[in-house]
Amino acid sequence: MERSQFHYHVDILTPDSRPVASSAALPKSAAERLFRQKVEEYRQQTGKFIVRPATERDWERGFIGAVRLAENHKLVIALTRCDCS
Ligand SMILES: [Zn+2]
Repeated sequence: MERSQFHYHVDILTPDSRPVASSAALPKSAAERLFRQKVEEYRQQTGKFIVRPATERDWERGFIGAVRLAENHKLVIALTRCDCS
């Protein structure tokens, strides 16, 4: 398997960026698949999500490293690039 400095997590957070849950470290394709699964799963409990690319403003809000966000009034699901070990 190719070694890479970066991997991805799917993080579940509150809108004020308090962590609720976080996935294991995943390669990008698996993380993208899990992100879509989680959006679908939580949509049934909390309502429709707006899905969009994350920006520096989102990092400033506390979603550090996020590359994509799904957001509604209750939860934020973040696809996050990470170099933790
Ligand atoms: Zn990590």
